[in-house]
Amino acid sequence: MLIKKLETFTNQTIGFVRVTTDTGDQGWGQISTYNADITCDVFHRQIARHAIGKDALDFTDMIDLIGEKELKFPGSYVRRATAGLDTALWDLKGRVENKPVVELLGGTPGPLRIYGSSMRRDITPQDEAKRLVRLRDEKGIDAFKWRVGLEAGRDVDKWPGRTEEIVPVVSKALGDGIAKLVDGNSGFSPKRAIEVGRLLEDNDICHFEEPCPYWEFDWTKQVTDALSIDVTGGEQDCEMSAWRTIIEKKTVNIVQPDVLYLGGIHRTMQVARLAEEAGLPCLPHSANLGLATLCSMHILRAIANGGNYLEYSIEGPYSQQWADELFNENPFTITDGKVNVSDAPGWGVTIKKSFLDAANYQMSEAE
Ligand SMILES: [Mg+2]
Repeated sequence: MLIKKLETFTNQTIGFVRVTTDTGDQGWGQISTYNADITCDVFHRQIARHAIGKDALDFTDMIDLIGEKELKFPGSYVRRATAGLDTALWDLKGRVENKPVVELLGGTPGPLRIYGSSMRRDITPQDEAKRLVRLRDEKGIDAFKWRVGLEAGRDVDKWPGRTEEIVPVVSKALGDGIAKLVDGNSGFSPKRAIEVGRLLEDNDICHFEEPCPYWEFDWTKQVTDALSIDVTGGEQDCEMSAWRTIIEKKTVNIVQPDVLYLGGIHRTMQVARLAEEAGLPCLPHSANLGLATLCSMHILRAIANGGNYLEYSIEGPYSQQWADELFNENPFTITDGKVNVSDAPGWGVTIKKSFLDAANYQMSEAE
C-alpha cells in the first residue's frame, strides 16, 4: 500500500492532513497548532515529496529520513509539518488493521486520569482558586496545574507579588488529596527559580514545570538538583540531540515531549523509550483539545513510563470549543476526573465538514 496523495486543510491556527493510498484507504492527522498555515506550506514544499510513493504502513524509517534529508532545516517548522504526516499514517494504519492507535503502540483502550491545566496569568489568585475548586467538585478532577511567573519573563512577574500569592491561595483552596502542579514557562533565572521552588515545597506542590528558559539546560539542572520536588520540561524541544542531552544529564525529573511539536508519534515514542531507559517518567505536553491531547491519550495508555495523568486544557477558546469545532465525536468527555481512550480504529475521530469547508486547501500527489 503506497502513499498516493497528501492534502491539507488549514486556517491560521490549526490544520489537518489527509493521506490517501493507491488502494483508496485514508487517514487523518494534524500538523501542530499556531501558524498552521505556514506549516502547511512547509508540508507541501519539504515533507510531501519524501512521502509520496512510499509505503503507507511501514513508515517509521521514512519519518526519520525526512529529518535527515531536510538537514539544512533543523527546528520547529519541519517537525510540526512532519507531525501531520506521522499522525495521518498512524490513523490510516489503525483503520486498515481495525485497531485504535493505542493498540498499535502496545497498549489498551480505557480510562485515563487527567489534570486540569490552566493557561492563564491574567487571573487573580482568588479567581483561579474558585474555578479550579469548581472543576474539582463538578468534574471530579483531582490534579491541577496553574501558572507562576511570566512566560520568558526574566524574573519579572505578571504583576508584583502574584507568584507569592497564587501558590498558597490556590493550594489551600484545593486542599488535601489533590495533585498540585505549577508552570513557569521559561520565566526564571536559576536563583529566582530555586526561591520559587522553596515556596512550592512549602505549599504541597509536586511539579515545577519549565522553571528556566528551556534552552538553558544547565540552568534547569541547577534547579532540579536544588529542589526536592519534580522539575519537569521539554515541551518545546524537537531535536533528538536536545532530548539525548536532557535525558543523559537528568536535566529534569519528568520529560514532557509535545507529540505535534516534536514530529509525531514515532519520534515521541523514541523520546519516551530514551526516558524509560534512564528511569524517567514521560508526561506528554498537550495544552489544547486538538489532536495533540488525543495523541497523548493513546501514548499514555501504551508506554511503561507514562506519567500520573494527562494534561487537559481547561480554557474555553483552546479547549472544549475547539473540540466542538473540529471533531464530529467528542473524545474528551470527563467522567470522575478521567477521559476514555476509545477502541474505535485509528484516532477514533472524524473532522467536521464545517471546518474542512472553511479551511484553506492544498494538495500534493504522485505524478
Ligand atoms: Mg508548560
